[in-house]
Amino acid sequence: MICHLCDEDKIPSYAHAYRQVTGYIKDRAAGGANQLALRVETGKLACEECINLRRSGHNPDQESLL
Ligand SMILES: [Zn+2]
Repeated sequence: MICHLCDEDKIPSYAHAYRQVTGYIKDRAAGGANQLALRVETGKLACEECINLRRSGHNPDQESLL
């Protein structure tokens, strides 16, 4: 399965994919985590490697602009 972030066919199965979703969040008065409401899956899939890179603050798209 193709990762939409790196365009490589490196996702072995649907169960291994990170699925992109959209939805709605609202700030809580007391702060803290928000619940994602009306979650809709966009159909875009990402591989573990890309998710981990972005989670750690690394952004290859921005780097290529330098
Ligand atoms: Zn990827």
